[in-house]
Amino acid sequence: MLLSVPLSALNRVGKTTTQSLKKLGLETVSDLLLYFPFRYDDFSKVTAIEDVDAGQNVSIAGTIEMIQNKRSARQRRQLTEALVSDDTGLIKVVWFNQPFIAQNLKAGDKVSLAGKTAESYGQLSLISPQYEKIGSAGLIHTQGLVPVYHLSSDLSQKQLRFLISQALPATEKMTEWLPENLLKELKLLPLPVAIKQAHFPENIEEAQEARKRLGFSELFLRQLRSQSIKLELKNKPAPKIDFQEMMTRQFVQALPFNLTAGQKQAAWEILQDINREAPMSRLLEGDVGSGKTVVAAIALFNVAINKYQGALMAPTEILATQHYGSLLKLLGPFNVKIGLLTGSQAEANFDLPKTKKDRREKIISQAEIIVGTQALIQDYSIERLALVIVDEQHRFGVRQRQKLQQSGGGLWPHFLSMTATPIPRSLALAIYGDLDLSLIKELPKNRKPIITHVLPEEKREEAYETIRRQINTGRQAFVICPLVEESDKLGARSATTEYKRLKNEIYPELEIGLIHGRLKSAEKEKVMKDFADGVTKILVATAVVEVGVDVPNASIMLIEGAERFGLAQLHQFRGRVGRSEHQSYCLLLTSKDQQNPNTAERLQALSKYNDGLSLSKMDLKLRGAGDLYGRIQSGFPELRIASLFDYEMIKAAQKAAEKLIKEDPDLDNHPEIKARLSDNPENEAHLE
Ligand code: ADP
Ligand code: MG
Repeated sequence: MLLSVPLSALNRVGKTTTQSLKKLGLETVSDLLLYFPFRYDDFSKVTAIEDVDAGQNVSIAGTIEMIQNKRSARQRRQLTEALVSDDTGLIKVVWFNQPFIAQNLKAGDKVSLAGKTAESYGQLSLISPQYEKIGSAGLIHTQGLVPVYHLSSDLSQKQLRFLISQALPATEKMTEWLPENLLKELKLLPLPVAIKQAHFPENIEEAQEARKRLGFSELFLRQLRSQSIKLELKNKPAPKIDFQEMMTRQFVQALPFNLTAGQKQAAWEILQDINREAPMSRLLEGDVGSGKTVVAAIALFNVAINKYQGALMAPTEILATQHYGSLLKLLGPFNVKIGLLTGSQAEANFDLPKTKKDRREKIISQAEIIVGTQALIQDYSIERLALVIVDEQHRFGVRQRQKLQQSGGGLWPHFLSMTATPIPRSLALAIYGDLDLSLIKELPKNRKPIITHVLPEEKREEAYETIRRQINTGRQAFVICPLVEESDKLGARSATTEYKRLKNEIYPELEIGLIHGRLKSAEKEKVMKDFADGVTKILVATAVVEVGVDVPNASIMLIEGAERFGLAQLHQFRGRVGRSEHQSYCLLLTSKDQQNPNTAERLQALSKYNDGLSLSKMDLKLRGAGDLYGRIQSGFPELRIASLFDYEMIKAAQKAAEKLIKEDPDLDNHPEIKARLSDNPENEAHLE
């Protein structure tokens, strides 16, 4: 089997499954092999039936004595009941609504079963266990450490495990690309072995070994990329932006607040950097609400006075529009020409022609500061571009920068990336080795820590009252819902339903807004504007408000189904309130049916900690032992396998990369590695 084979060519993969796999980004055998589990269920011990107790997760092995389909008492559910025996006893097994199981398993079959036990009417049963016949093939669903993958609802764990086990032989086709001496020195597994063990480890040690190898490769590539970028950019020409002391002073004095020490320091570092003839590469890191926008404005202002152009790019239209608004307020009074460019908008604070195309072109050629979505701005060539600022988005490669070179002088623009992702300085340097770091440590003085409460469903009415009280004192509120529309499967309260309910039943006297990703951008804009202007008092939203939205008058946020979100994401949401001197609140509502005892503890961390760094550490600590690949929870999507807290591993990768680049700067003697260093960081995890 070849790595590039499309999954549709595999056994038992029809049209529907192909589609479902594609939703997870899985199209080839290689994609499948590199789709790692996020944890393992431990069925490494087979329990004798006589030792089974109620409420346990067990794996048993035995013989089917009888099996049959039944209708349940109320005729609602199809039941499949079986009796399974081993040398020590007999146990009842029940499955719901899966009548085909009685076709797959027959009396006399030897089976391995894994699942949860329960006691009902005094009888112990194994409820809806995973099952496998014992026989020819090795057991992958019910014994040992069983991998658990992140899935969309239309695929089952069993299906994916089956497909991956089918694809495993293809690992033999993977070439080892880490240098021999590194493998030896760091005691790393060969690639094919690591991939096999990541999916189907015999024990936790094997899983850890696999993760070590795969995590190292990931970090090593990242380090190599940073180092070669650094090397490549070192000798490129960039426009020198002179520090405009007088004007900058005036600007700062006109602000309605005093800059924090961190903001001043960061601005100063940036101004010094862009005053050089080599391109700046800098990361501005500051927790949500730390005031990065005003720092960006200072840099852009200096660029404009120097008669160059600056671009501020945001990941979404909402954010771009908001930045445009902020910059108009901050810099408009200083006669800076500012334009906004998104898929649907072309606005500016100077005269524009009628047609969209002409408007865009005039903005590109005349605006001193161009604000817009990254996707759009990137497609234009900006004649006097001297500074590119990217907000809340780290993916920006050298090729992308190269494209943005000034079409005239061939100068490389300075580059600033802004992020609220909480990473400690030492680690940020290790991971973004090519970027210098400016850190805004403190929040503006007037901020009070956000008071956060975790509330069960029964407290819903109280939560609504708390919101009402805030609104009565003149504040505004966010209500965040996990999904746009009701979906039975997940039972999550959808934004749309919730909006109607709040509007009609709970707060009929208040103006309420609704925003989600499926609205047209003109609608989104209107909704955001109404909320920013205080016309609507409550904004019901999906995850679209996660990053960057700035409405300082909003002082309370209610998050529905909070257990569905990772801590990092909840912290981002929460950062939408507490952006002014008003005491702010965050209410985390958990669903009735959520059963994981870990959840409450996890969410309590939010009421204890107000900073992102403590939270991400906590998140890591609360992951179970088998929970090795916490892609979703880590809140740090750049790394698929390694974690920010693999400090030793990061160091080792950095050292190894430095050494290699020194010996072989163009990597000509390491073609396999070179091939993996494509410029697109999206391809980061191409380990095969
Ligand atoms: P973020 O770092 O999350 O992007 P913003 O730049 O959106 O934060 O700033 C958050 C809010 O704080 C804005 O309303 C901004 O005007 C305000 N702000 C920024 N700096 C200060 C400061 N030094 N003192 C008081 N408020 C500030
Ligand atoms: Mg921001």
